[in-house]
Amino acid sequence: MKIHECQAKELFRRFDIPVPEGLEAGSVDEAREAARKLSVGRIVVKAQIHAGGRGKGGGVKVVEGADAAAAAAEGMLGKPLITHQTGPEGQIVRRLLVEAASPIKQEIYVGLTVDRALGRPVLMVSPSGGMDIEEVADKTPELIFKEAVDPRFGLLPFQGRNLARKLGFGPALQRSAITIFSNVYKLFLALDASLVEINPLVITQDDQLLVLDAKINFDDNALYRHKDIKELEDPFEVDPLELEASKFGLNYIRLDGNIGAMVNGAGLAMATMDLIKQAGAEPANFLDVGGGANAETIGQGFRIILSDERVKAILINIFGGILRLDVLAKGVVEAANTVKVEVPIIVRLEGTNVEEGRRILAGSGLTFEVAKDLKEAADKVAALVRN
Ligand code: GDP
Ligand code: MN
Repeated sequence: MKIHECQAKELFRRFDIPVPEGLEAGSVDEAREAARKLSVGRIVVKAQIHAGGRGKGGGVKVVEGADAAAAAAEGMLGKPLITHQTGPEGQIVRRLLVEAASPIKQEIYVGLTVDRALGRPVLMVSPSGGMDIEEVADKTPELIFKEAVDPRFGLLPFQGRNLARKLGFGPALQRSAITIFSNVYKLFLALDASLVEINPLVITQDDQLLVLDAKINFDDNALYRHKDIKELEDPFEVDPLELEASKFGLNYIRLDGNIGAMVNGAGLAMATMDLIKQAGAEPANFLDVGGGANAETIGQGFRIILSDERVKAILINIFGGILRLDVLAKGVVEAANTVKVEVPIIVRLEGTNVEEGRRILAGSGLTFEVAKDLKEAADKVAALVRN
């Protein structure tokens, strides 16, 4: 799960990581009021969307005074902001962060994530902060410095010092950096984050370290023990179909292709996606309806796939173990009666009550094709979208 910069900065405050003074605003008047309250000359108005690259896209404006802050807010609110991470349609700006602007001497990159190859959290820093870290990694990888953390000991002070020295920091900055790095690690661990990124961490004109941009991603599987964080989720930033699916406990992830797939069991769903790709087509989604799915959840899953207008053909691949296939068939038929089905459906069913399931589908008036095995199902569905 992702959160907004202003929310991440609130969490940083809790962990004593230095962030500028700032206030949230949802309207032009609120932005003017926030700028007044901050009572500083220079103000930065920042669009709160989950995508990065806002600066280049016009979503970060440094201005003088409350009226200019209001004008900047007017220019952003309610309009789509397009960055290299949003896609061409952009993301509508609904919230702003109005902050005291900071005079910058240098921009540093700081990131903490789990390195899957090492199986450990890795703290990364670079003196080339402020820009796209992927670009730095690509063109000047020697400017990224890393320390892997042994989870038994946590991030040790000497590791923080190593990184601070590589950034060229003198003794005073080293001390502040070590504290910041250690607090970033504490936050990462305590909140079950999967990524903490500060880009940039700046050295101000008076030689203080300050977090100017903050990003935290959370491990969805740990959110059950962080109810307060789950509440930070912004529904406007979540794919509407994914949001809908989560209401029914369906494991649904939107992908880029045009074959809708409904499968039970995450492993079978992955295998189905592989076979669709091998057959030369692309899945539009991952959908695991789960082992204990009933007619209603099946129906909701099918309805969600049908409401995705990119879907050109549907593959239903169910292995009936706990889930009985007559139940599945009823769910599919009920859903098909409420939504217009305009795309071809390929079905591969195997397992408990398969005969009954096939009979229900055959008598439903729905047109679909039955495949004898998974390979044939994938080939058939891929052929349908090719034509
Ligand atoms: P991003 O483009 O979405 O990553 O947004 P950032 O919050 O990182 O802002 C982009 C850039 O705007 C930063 O790299 C800074 O160069 C600049 N910026 C952000 N806040 C301030 C500020 O308080 N003062 C100044 N002078 N520049 C800022
Ligand atoms: Mn940034």
